[in-house]
Amino acid sequence: MPKLQEYLPIIGESRLDQLFKIARPLEGRVVQNINSTAVGGGVAEILTRMIPLFRELGIDARWDVIRGNERFFAITKAMHNGLHGVPVELSASDFEFFVETGRANIEHVRPWGDIVFLHDPQPIALVEERGSDGRHWIWRCHIDFTAPQADIWEFLQGYIRRFDAAVFSAPAFSRPLPIRQVLIAPSIDPLSDKNRDLTESEISAVCNRFGLDRTRPIVSQISRFDFLKDPVGVIKAYKMAKKHVDCQLVLAGGGATDDPEGQKVLDEVRREAEGDSDIFVLFLPPASDLAINALQRASSVVLQKSLREGFGLTVAEALWKARPVIASAVGGIPLQITHKYSGILTHSIEGTAFWIKQLLNEPAYAAVLGQNGREHVRQNFLITRHIKDYILLFLSLERPGDVIEL
Ligand code: UDP
Repeated sequence: MPKLQEYLPIIGESRLDQLFKIARPLEGRVVQNINSTAVGGGVAEILTRMIPLFRELGIDARWDVIRGNERFFAITKAMHNGLHGVPVELSASDFEFFVETGRANIEHVRPWGDIVFLHDPQPIALVEERGSDGRHWIWRCHIDFTAPQADIWEFLQGYIRRFDAAVFSAPAFSRPLPIRQVLIAPSIDPLSDKNRDLTESEISAVCNRFGLDRTRPIVSQISRFDFLKDPVGVIKAYKMAKKHVDCQLVLAGGGATDDPEGQKVLDEVRREAEGDSDIFVLFLPPASDLAINALQRASSVVLQKSLREGFGLTVAEALWKARPVIASAVGGIPLQITHKYSGILTHSIEGTAFWIKQLLNEPAYAAVLGQNGREHVRQNFLITRHIKDYILLFLSLERPGDVIEL
């Protein structure tokens, strides 16, 4: 894992110094992160990178993962979809089972941190354990909350209001709540294997391994096989664009241990891709950071055609690599892309197809979009900014009224 000093060439001295200064009053404080998967998806991705950096700053960051059985993860996945506005049915017994699993986890994941930092709905019932012992509880929501299904929102609200603060990724996700709401965008780590610079030969080695032809344009989408990422829509857009411009399509991704729907989506994708040897459907194992990095860098255009999106880390990852990105204008994606300046925002399969064709035909314009995207990520979506925002939030709870000399 990199040391904070290694971020200096990317973010500059003053931002780095600031981190050490604001962290000092929190030295030794335990920040206990709790979520539902150690691998797969954006939350696990961020925590893996962030925990060691917090520790270097003197904050005792921990990470616990709750346990659940198949039924629990089927329920939480349905909840996730429902909160994203996709109609789902959950019975009273499902909600009960959800709460029971939360309670059963109290033995396993004692909420003992000075700050108990829960991520997403899965572990939320642990807040029942909250006592009057001075610990602060934060709920971090990574979900697109623009149009949550009413019964699920009602249910969750009863838990959310017991926290000190709720953190959302984009302004549009905030809800009427009696507690503090904080906007903190997620981030990527520029020094991780997923995002660090690669040599040409590292990129080529990965492309060769998957049988990709680097002399022809590659269009890619890297995402879990989840229907909200619309991989089938991606194939349809590619097929439309392909009538006008030559390219290969890469759909790469794995599953997450808390996502039971992956296999079904993957089967559907394989059916849609059948018979076209220029479509590469790659099911990636969890430790595929370098391969993802290389695939993004080898792409002439990166897509993120999500139907709903909390933030969309994959967009930031591709922009950081100065790739031209075509992405749906949903969830946190418009925070990352200004249309026709730092990428392209679309609303349909046809729109996506049109822009694939445009960008492949105009590489100079595509390159400008990519460069602007990279600068936008440098200013706003790197892990060091994210850590700073979290520290400021912790300070506001633990040391209200303190003045920090910067
Ligand atoms: N990712 C990965 N392997 C995969 C698919 C995705 O490591 O097979 C990573 C991806 O690079 C990104 C994160 O998982 O860092 C996904 O975060 P995002 O916010 O894009 O979507 P989520 O999966 O959280 O809905």
